[in-house]
Amino acid sequence: MTSNWINGIESNSSSGRSAAVFDPALGTESYRVGLSSRTELDLAVSAAKNAFPAWRDASLAKRQQVLFSFRELLNVRKGELAEIITAEHGKVLSDALGEITRGQEIVEFATGIPHLLKGSYTENASTGVDVYEIRQPLGVVGIVSPFNFPAMVPMWFFPLAIAAGNTVVLKPSEKAPGASLWIAKLLKEAGLPDGVFNVVQGDKDAVDALLENPDVASLSFVGSTPIARYVYEKGTANGKRVQALGGAKNHMLVLPDADLELVADSAVNAGFGSAGERCMAISVLVAVEPVADKLIPKIVSRMEQLRTGDGRRGCDMGPLVTREHRDKVASYIEIAAQDGAKVVVDGRTVQPDGEPAGFWLGPTLLDKVPTSSKVYTEEIFGPVLSVVRVASYEAGLELINSGAFGNGTAIFTNDGGAARRFQNEVQVGMVGINVPIPVPVAYYSFGGWKNSLFGDTKAHGTEGVHFFTRGKAVTSRWLDPSHGGINLGFPQN
Ligand code: NAD
Repeated sequence: MTSNWINGIESNSSSGRSAAVFDPALGTESYRVGLSSRTELDLAVSAAKNAFPAWRDASLAKRQQVLFSFRELLNVRKGELAEIITAEHGKVLSDALGEITRGQEIVEFATGIPHLLKGSYTENASTGVDVYEIRQPLGVVGIVSPFNFPAMVPMWFFPLAIAAGNTVVLKPSEKAPGASLWIAKLLKEAGLPDGVFNVVQGDKDAVDALLENPDVASLSFVGSTPIARYVYEKGTANGKRVQALGGAKNHMLVLPDADLELVADSAVNAGFGSAGERCMAISVLVAVEPVADKLIPKIVSRMEQLRTGDGRRGCDMGPLVTREHRDKVASYIEIAAQDGAKVVVDGRTVQPDGEPAGFWLGPTLLDKVPTSSKVYTEEIFGPVLSVVRVASYEAGLELINSGAFGNGTAIFTNDGGAARRFQNEVQVGMVGINVPIPVPVAYYSFGGWKNSLFGDTKAHGTEGVHFFTRGKAVTSRWLDPSHGGINLGFPQN
């Protein structure tokens, strides 16, 4: 049983409700996670609220030291965390380590909090009057994370939240809850005071309780688009600051002059890494003709070399997270065939290096996918790469810009002018130029456009610092003998 972590103490939920956590490579239930009640969630919020005044007043140096210690401990022990992630999510161990490393970069960024919180100061804005701005923490902040990055997504938020002086209640995905408790214990070992970081396992009930608790100042959500929209609407209606990152359907535009060896490597890496269960995975390759017939055999030959299997056995690609998700993803292959696409590689026939009961689906390649098909319009979130052929750059751009999502995209070309035009014209929040998964580094901000992000503030980077703080502008005058007397007019300089 993976437990809650409230006020520095581990406890099991007593709600009587629970969900199965699977080992996807074995296809067996590993344990059950308690689904916390509203009362349990409220208890965590109270703990965070009580811890807030002292943590807010802790010096920046103290907060910084805790994060430095956490970073050092994580660096030494991240192998343990990777094993938990692989056992619950299924992604291969090297990929689990990769997500931890990307999360760690945010911790490293957050250790620079004294610099990041430096305000501004204007002397003599008016005669004898100075104006300055300071940024202060919000209070108790909520984080709700998805199954596909059990460590990295919480780390997009909590290092900056804590560094800025907030206290946290994290509600992880019930499908991969183990990482959160491990992280909570490590934060305590790093010297974080009890109550500053709390974990409540659960499902919709716990999320609704977070959305409704008046002591929760903000919500940072990552998950599918319908739930992101719901969290944004309900959270903002309840007066909270909300950033809600949703689903994706990322396109890779390949121009005829691109380096096709690089394109083939990139399409395979970005299409099938983490079994396509990444919000920045490439799911549609838009081939500007006549490139497709040359490119597809190169992709297929690389796919033939991929080993799908248990992530602990050195394979390239692991299973999907649950049996239901595997079945749903596999159903799109049938739909593609019915809708007139060509199934070039069918992942349903994969021979995995793992237990037969695991939730397997091999890498799948579909060609000539009609853009009217559900396979094109819906987020699949699995190892299925669709090829759509277009006649020109303009047609490819229009396709990308007409989509409902705007998370990530990439262009592959050797033409700098075309790349620059794409960067300017594409309606997507994160753009790669000959880079298939353009996840910004920690000091830039992560987030998409359109249905991929509700709210106007992205994760980490400068926007993350802004999200977890609010500005206060101070206008001050220290009395000198020359005060101006009574004046009922609006203050002017
Ligand atoms: P999900 O939306 O099912 O769940 C996300 C979180 O919301 C979980 O903690 C879950 O318990 C909670 N939740 C589920 N149903 C809820 C409901 N009805 N009301 C309130 N809360 C609810 O997403 P998932 O399947 O865990 O993750 C995959 C999705 O996340 C994909 O759509 C993927 O694109 C998206 N994602 C997006 C990003 C991004 O940065 N944009 C990053 C990672 C994942």
